Amino acid sequence: TLKAGVLAVQGDVSEHGDAIRRAATAHGRAVEVVEVRESGVVPDCDLLLMPGGESTTISRLVEREGIDEEIRAHVDAGKPVLATCAGLIVAASDANDERVETLDLLDVSVDRNAFGRQKDSFEAPLDVEGLDEPFPAVFIRAPLIADVGDAEVLATWDDDPVAVRDGPVVGTSFHPELTNDPRIHDLAFFETLEVEA
Ligand code: GLN
Repeated sequence: TLKAGVLAVQGDVSEHGDAIRRAATAHGRAVEVVEVRESGVVPDCDLLLMPGGESTTISRLVEREGIDEEIRAHVDAGKPVLATCAGLIVAASDANDERVETLDLLDVSVDRNAFGRQKDSFEAPLDVEGLDEPFPAVFIRAPLIADVGDAEVLATWDDDPVAVRDGPVVGTSFHPELTNDPRIHDLAFFETLEVEA
């Protein structure tokens, strides 16, 4: 059984648990979802989700609880992470905001709340590298990916990158857990995981 950690200090946690269960079922894999609120949990996880929410709060609590070092070790060990929206902000190399201590898991810099300024929240069909059909992407006060260093761009919207991969880490500006479509969780985890349950 795979152990999936969902960072649960703040944000839309249960939706990610449901999404990972759907993706696992589609791959015939058993998965146990655990919520991460304190240190000592991530080291046992095969994969990790960093949900949306409020990035200033998430980064503060992750640091206070000492989970930051464990997440870095998870990525250093080559284990997969999916970071969405505020999760992407926390995972980035720079958030251009001194209130957010980023974990530098992904070589991108982001601007909080800059994407989709004209419309706070919207849904758009997105062409994603590796998916045959467009993905229904839900954007909610999404971060703009301002600079892409060594990361690979998986999708763009209006010429701006909105999904990126850097080694075992996939980051999205949008919320793949808010639709019933498991393909982004699929892409982030089941196409990279080599551990057999
Ligand atoms: N605007 C939020 C932030 O900057 C992110 C929004 C979200 O996760 N839906 O932290």
